[in-house]
Amino acid sequence: MKAIKDYIKRLFLWELFQGLRITGRYLFEKKITVQYPDEKTPQSHRFRGRHALRRYPNGEERCIACKLCEAVCPALAITIEAAPRADGTRRTTRYDIDLTKCIFCGFCEESCPVDSIVETRVFEYCGEQRHDLLMNKEKLLAAGEQLEKALAADKALDQAYH
Ligand code: SF4
Ligand code: SF4
Repeated sequence: MKAIKDYIKRLFLWELFQGLRITGRYLFEKKITVQYPDEKTPQSHRFRGRHALRRYPNGEERCIACKLCEAVCPALAITIEAAPRADGTRRTTRYDIDLTKCIFCGFCEESCPVDSIVETRVFEYCGEQRHDLLMNKEKLLAAGEQLEKALAADKALDQAYH
């Protein structure tokens, strides 16, 4: 009996019509496909994109070279070298992030005691060669300067949620 049923179903293309029924159901529904890059999905203020190093409003680097971010990084993507400055304060002389190793876990940002290293909302970047994806201190600080207003707003939102 089952074999006959299956034969009749195959004969009248039953499964095809079942599929078309689902297609028809969604034909006039609101479309959920996003036409990227013309349209974009909403982003969380905690989005973890490409990194930046922030400065204080007076222009001073926030980073105090404590190396917590380097220690906590599970991908060993961060390399820091530090030395005391003429005024006795300690700052990094080298701060590199290898984005080819980074897994964007956010641990570096979480561990930073002075909100220096942050992950921005920037995710549209690429590199043709490996060194294009190596962020050094200059690049990170430049990114921080460019995005500071948005970064400060995201941090304020973050604190409001805690
Ligand atoms: S996001 Fe995670 S993997 Fe990437 S540099 Fe920070 S701690 Fe390392
Ligand atoms: S970015 Fe933050 S956690 Fe990393 S070395 Fe600088 S102060 Fe320490």
